Amino acid sequence: MSMRIGIIGGGAAGLFAACQLKRLSGSSDIEITVLEKNPVPGKKLTLTGHGRCNITNRKDPSVLKNCYHEAGNFIYPALKEFGPEDTIRFFENDLGLKTKEEDNNRIFPVCDSAVTVRDTLVSYISDHVKVLSGANVLDIKKGDAFEVNTAKGRLEFDTVIISCGGSSFPKTGSEGDSYKFLEGFGHTVIPARGALAPVKADTESAVLTKALSGVSLEAKVSLYLSDRQSASTKGEILFADFGLTGPAVMEIAREIPADITGMNAYLELDLIPSMSDEEFDRELIGLIGEHPDTKITNLIARYIPASVAGEISARAGSADIYAQGFSKENRRKLLRETKHLKINIAEAPSLDKAYVTRGGVSLKEVDRKTMQSKLVPGLYIIGEALDVDGISGGFNLQACMSEAYLAAKSILSMQ
Ligand SMILES: Cc1cc2nc3c(=O)[nH]c(=O)nc-3n(C[C@H](O)[C@H](O)[C@H](O)COP(=O)(O)OP(=O)(O)OC[C@H]3O[C@@H](n4cnc5c(N)ncnc54)[C@H](O)[C@@H]3O)c2cc1C
Repeated sequence: MSMRIGIIGGGAAGLFAACQLKRLSGSSDIEITVLEKNPVPGKKLTLTGHGRCNITNRKDPSVLKNCYHEAGNFIYPALKEFGPEDTIRFFENDLGLKTKEEDNNRIFPVCDSAVTVRDTLVSYISDHVKVLSGANVLDIKKGDAFEVNTAKGRLEFDTVIISCGGSSFPKTGSEGDSYKFLEGFGHTVIPARGALAPVKADTESAVLTKALSGVSLEAKVSLYLSDRQSASTKGEILFADFGLTGPAVMEIAREIPADITGMNAYLELDLIPSMSDEEFDRELIGLIGEHPDTKITNLIARYIPASVAGEISARAGSADIYAQGFSKENRRKLLRETKHLKINIAEAPSLDKAYVTRGGVSLKEVDRKTMQSKLVPGLYIIGEALDVDGISGGFNLQACMSEAYLAAKSILSMQ
């Protein structure tokens, strides 16, 4: 009898797993079924990379693994076995989708279309894999085989891959069902939090972020909780009506605890990270000497966008002050607003808006060389269902791809 493989969730990880099973199966006697609750698979995938799908990041796996926070060591074997170069080869040679490299080693399909990526994956598996759309999985039990109860009836499988995602961006279908199924099998689930998420400012700070809405710049962003710095990163930030977003802000958001009540949580922005406080102060003193008849706002607009310079100097009380009248106290206030700008955080990042979920199935309970559950033989877990989250830049889809490859290889080795 052929081996029946059920893939629960037809998102990025589930579709990649179906592709790898097809690719590696050769003459193996297997039946592959993808169960997807939405009317069409890969809804979240079609939104990736602002609709362009940043499929991977062309960094060496030894560097790449550092982009997955605490999960770096867990994911490393998967990245070594099926890394970015393998993903690019798979897209170009198997799917026929040419790729291109953009800044920071990010890889996109030349067609710039995430919908085309999804459609091509579905088309690639169409001759080997049954895709049951609208098949919401309600529960999974294990007797002699895995019994899967769906909105479209009961099915049995010898092997099951759980790929129903995390609980971020739930409107795409990933509503935390993976956790429900896996807890049912005795797995530990680390509570889900938003990662790669925008940060909402409190009413007071939102006055500034709204005034600068749409402006982006390079900054150092530090997270403070109960007056202690708990994380810091550098990169692009974007001011928005509600608060802050942009890659650096979204990256640090995963460090904001689920409950920030009473923590006086804020982001401190250094808008001129290329200089220390002392260097910037010396630079100012020099400029003041050279340009006594110039407004301070215009002097600092040499380092930051003019709109930001205007708001910052207004906050420092120096909007109308000319360099020649700029006192030591004025300099101190300007330094505070420019290099220690405080944006109070209103609430923990919402899972509704987070691109990725932090939390998920405990990695201690999953074999990192096969993605098989250490508790339930024949049960595999891949994608965001796992407690793995990467930074922005193609790392999360690469994780899905590498994990899908290991699971497919391990399943086929049982044949
Ligand atoms: C707006 C946005 C942009 C992004 N851009 C990028 C990017 O450019 N590059 C990158 O690397 N990462 C990106 N990500 C992250 C990436 O999309 C995710 O990490 C990835 O999709 C996770 O794959 P997954 O298969 O684990 O989960 P999902 O893609 O969420 O798929 C899970 C699937 O399971 C289905 N499902 C859930 N429950 C059930 C059930 N009970 N029965 C049946 N089916 C079920 C869901 O409907 C869904 O289709 C982005 C995310 C978002 C939200």
